[in-house]
Amino acid sequence: MSIYTDAKYMDVPYEEKLKLFKEVKDDMRYDHNLYGCYECGICVAACPSARFYDFSPRVFAQIMAREDVDTFYELLNDNVWDCSQCYSCTRCPRQNNPGGIILMMRDAAVRAGLQSAKDALRAYSRIIYKVMSTGTQVAPDMLQPDFFPDWGTDVKAVAENLDVWRRAIPPETLHTTELAWDVSEKTRLELYMIWKLTGNLELIEGIDEGIYMILEEVMEELLDDNGYDIDDFENILED
Ligand code: SF4
Ligand code: SF4
Repeated sequence: MSIYTDAKYMDVPYEEKLKLFKEVKDDMRYDHNLYGCYECGICVAACPSARFYDFSPRVFAQIMAREDVDTFYELLNDNVWDCSQCYSCTRCPRQNNPGGIILMMRDAAVRAGLQSAKDALRAYSRIIYKVMSTGTQVAPDMLQPDFFPDWGTDVKAVAENLDVWRRAIPPETLHTTELAWDVSEKTRLELYMIWKLTGNLELIEGIDEGIYMILEEVMEELLDDNGYDIDDFENILED
């Protein structure tokens, strides 16, 4: 039973919620993310999302510790996507990692193909496609020293002449579908294999089948061109 009398999703079968709850508790990262909770609220004070949303990292620690399956399911649908994954909450005196708990919950939501996860991630489909198909999503406009202070003097030189660069080499659209640099074919091959072999590509399938089909085609083509059969895992790993 939920600790909240007005808990939502009471029409969803308890077994369905329990299955997802167990998935998170059985995750090998779980024991490193939750050690108990003092209910001190330090994580809430540190959390940027708590300032802008009806959101509390403390509640995540507490409902997991109390095994409140109904509220877990509510948070899984309504709150996990409000976290910015900054890990400011790791200053917890109990050494909990509420952001880590949320990450495991997000994984479970994506694996289960929850509609709430699909809705939350729809806005990112273009970014997912770009990162996974090209290995980067950095566009020319993003080359600003303030964004990348650790990239050294080249970024400053490019940023200072960005207008000239853009006039000389206009990006394809005003939204800059161009990339700031090409990721080498070898690196993209490695990335494709990692995404395929770790099951990340299948996760995308559960969230957005259209993007999955395009990505699979892009990846298989490059792998085929390089003599790899993506379904032949053992040989690829040996290589
Ligand atoms: S900082 Fe840690 S102990 Fe305090 S409320 Fe948050 S999770 Fe619980
Ligand atoms: S990781 Fe999430 S829960 Fe933790 S402080 Fe950042 S936004 Fe808040």
